[in-house]
Amino acid sequence: MKQLTDEERALITEIDQQGMLAAVELWADINSGTGHLPGLARMAEELSTAFSALPGEVSLIDPAPVTTIAADGQEVPRENGQHLVCRVRPDAPRRFLLTGHMDTVYPPDHPFQSITWLDDDTINGPGTADMKGGIAVILEALKAFERSPHAAEIGYDVMINSDEETGSLSSSALIHELAQGKYAALTYEPSARPEGTLAHARGGSGNYAVTVTGQSAHAGRNPQDGRNAIVAAADLAVRLKAAQHASISINPAKIDGGGANNVVPDHAVLRFNIRPKTTAAAEQFEKTLAQLITAIETEHDVSLSLHGGISRPPKPVDAQAEKLFALVRDVGAALGQNIDWQDTGGVCDGNNVAACGVPVIDTMGVRGGKIHSPQEFMIVPSLSERAALSAITLHRLASGALA
Ligand SMILES: [Zn+2]
Repeated sequence: MKQLTDEERALITEIDQQGMLAAVELWADINSGTGHLPGLARMAEELSTAFSALPGEVSLIDPAPVTTIAADGQEVPRENGQHLVCRVRPDAPRRFLLTGHMDTVYPPDHPFQSITWLDDDTINGPGTADMKGGIAVILEALKAFERSPHAAEIGYDVMINSDEETGSLSSSALIHELAQGKYAALTYEPSARPEGTLAHARGGSGNYAVTVTGQSAHAGRNPQDGRNAIVAAADLAVRLKAAQHASISINPAKIDGGGANNVVPDHAVLRFNIRPKTTAAAEQFEKTLAQLITAIETEHDVSLSLHGGISRPPKPVDAQAEKLFALVRDVGAALGQNIDWQDTGGVCDGNNVAACGVPVIDTMGVRGGKIHSPQEFMIVPSLSERAALSAITLHRLASGALA
């Protein structure tokens, strides 16, 4: 373990725990459920103000167009909020990427809308751990890093998107663009466990909708003329489930369609999610899916149209990423924090960053837990703990620690 130098100690002495907590309290009060445009606009405005404390340019980027398949099979636009980007020293030779998301999984009509203190060190509130706390950590860590004598030679981009919880479909191109040429990336999802454990390798994820068009007919008079879309969709669901193996799980999730009991249904939409553990499994699945679609079309005499795909590529951990983990663990040890890691089945923007070949740790945010539930909590002292962890990590990365 490399002890903290005086220079490093000086970076973190002014970390503002109270200021970070106040920011989280302010932001958690704003409902920023994915797709809730007024709330996301308010969040983007608050974040623009907060991030203008850094010596860079803050901009709000329009979301890329995204469509979704409605229950009737129509392709309809899905609304997303703007994404925030803060670029600092874009011409620096060595640059980092720090990412977070401003959206939460709680829509404006969800009962969980405000913070409750559970004890002196713990708050329960929407998005506190996932990840408004993490955004506060990003900002405070960068303010601390700016006190480093190395800062002037280093640049970074901060990206806070508005659609992470629904797969970053309107921000994935932006993430891809910002990841190019970066030395390393840090993403501020909460730790994998309340003790501060980091997520290591992650599987990937893909979401699909298959629209089935058959032929309607009277269920009693001429059923032989009908082509039953519900049966075809159900057959596909069963075959997809059967195609699952150790390296991929497949979850047929929903079938829409059909109508009256005496009508052969001519329309159905099957939705499913896949979780490939490896890139090979993801690629193999695309072939299997194409074969299954052909088979269903032929055997049921229906036509199928496919929407969706893999939005989160699997995130293996390569040699550079292993070095980054070792570096963060070492920094943690110097700060008296025990940093461990474990593989996880969850997905996040870290998957997309890793797919660009940039070493990334994606759980640099606060310690907390029970995310995506009304029991979501954040361990309050972890704000300054994690800000110190990131600030020193950035300081050591600045001097080329991954080389
Ligand atoms: Zn998150």
